[in-house]
Amino acid sequence: MVVVKITIKTGEQYIESLRKRRIKVYLFGEQVKNPVDHPVIRPSINSLAATYEVANDPRYQDIATATSHLTGEKINRFTHIHQSTEDLIKKVKLQRLLGQKTGTCFQRCVGFDSLNALSIVTFEMDQKLGTEYYPKLVEYLKYVQENDLVCCGAMTDPKGDRNLRPSQQADPDMYLRIVERRDDGIVVRGSKVHQTGAVNSHEVIVMPTRTMREDDKDYAVSFAVPSDNEGLIYIYGRQSCDLRKLEGVKYDMGNVNYGGQEAMIIFDDVFVPWERVFMCGEHEFAFPLVDTFSAYHRQSYGGCKSGVGDVLIGAAATIAEYNGVEKASSIRDKLVEMNHLNETIYSCGIACSAAGNKTPSGTYMVDILLANICKQNVTRFPYEIVRLAEDIAGGLLVTAPSEKDFKSPEIGKYVDKYLKGVNEVPTENRLRMLRLIENISMGLGSVGYRTESMHGAGSPQSQRIMIQRLVNEEHKKKLAKTIAGIEKEELPKIKIQK
Ligand code: SF4
Ligand code: FE
Repeated sequence: MVVVKITIKTGEQYIESLRKRRIKVYLFGEQVKNPVDHPVIRPSINSLAATYEVANDPRYQDIATATSHLTGEKINRFTHIHQSTEDLIKKVKLQRLLGQKTGTCFQRCVGFDSLNALSIVTFEMDQKLGTEYYPKLVEYLKYVQENDLVCCGAMTDPKGDRNLRPSQQADPDMYLRIVERRDDGIVVRGSKVHQTGAVNSHEVIVMPTRTMREDDKDYAVSFAVPSDNEGLIYIYGRQSCDLRKLEGVKYDMGNVNYGGQEAMIIFDDVFVPWERVFMCGEHEFAFPLVDTFSAYHRQSYGGCKSGVGDVLIGAAATIAEYNGVEKASSIRDKLVEMNHLNETIYSCGIACSAAGNKTPSGTYMVDILLANICKQNVTRFPYEIVRLAEDIAGGLLVTAPSEKDFKSPEIGKYVDKYLKGVNEVPTENRLRMLRLIENISMGLGSVGYRTESMHGAGSPQSQRIMIQRLVNEEHKKKLAKTIAGIEKEELPKIKIQK
């Protein structure tokens, strides 16, 4: 009998593994000695731990685990390289599930997407330039899979003057760059901003953020370093209402257990050994890497955002019940609209996966046009879903007294009495549901749903550029001219744009 080795860790093991790192994190101007138990940080760790928990749950084995094509071992899907369109579809289903379970960003997709993008681009680079990056990446992948690691995918540079290329900036460090090439490796300097889950990761995978030219070749760099590597500093990003986590309250946080996380990473002359370098000066491959990663991450939003959308729709439907208006036709119609928008987001995630293709590396890639359509919808639909949730919730969403007032021995009774909705539902439940809607739409959780839907995985204009580049307008004009009788050719075959 063949025994398949299982490398999947538990949520608890993941949290314990974070304690072993000597990571340098700053929050509110002070170094955090123990990020794992810090009340502002811990909810985001819980979200990531959920990616381990689902992989250990018998109900989710099919979507949350995979078989490594490198070792044959059973691995967490977040460390897998897609071997089929089925794998791509399962990824989106897994992300929807985790969005539903956490109600926020669970942070593990960026590293997942980076590994898959690098597997395609390092292979192509080796084929075209005779470099040897792909075998190094394969070794690195085995290490990530065997240890079930969380990788932070670090792409976005501070960018300085957006009108200037990296090598033209007044400060040459506005894009992360190679400052020294040594026999044993390279030394890099710079920063990566908006880094999802950075403080909760074991590894940081750096990639360039834009097209590079010959002059920018010191900026065309990709590598991986342990998250507690010498020279790395993390500055924690603020989130709306984050101080509520320090108030010792529960339901005022809206989402009582989970949260997202973004941080700024400083690379203060960090040494990277050659075996962990995946691009070093090959400027013509900077854009293919950005393009491939972006398409995967735009697919990802079809999963996670529809999962969080499910929670928000559930909250809106529940508050309608608590207010006694759930049967009103106007409310029913708003909920239908929210579901329609949410399922459209999900459909795009599934569609770009189903229409994916095998690349020369063997890794399956999503349909890039459809992935961009997916993300373009995400820059709009969650805003409309939030608007409808706020409409249904009513003004109490932003005027309700605090949890401490509700629990106050003197005035709590008034809050309880006058903020009751239907008689059968305790006031506290009504307030909890309002806080959850507040959390997802404009508070702590909006990092995983609202503004992130706009800018995460690229701002709307970056998708529009890709859409313009990828649609075959000539083909469409030919269709129109043929049908209008302007061209007398046979009707061209209908084809799906690739
Ligand atoms: Fe994953 Fe979504 Fe968070 Fe990106 S925003 S890391 S896709 S959960
Ligand atoms: Fe994101």
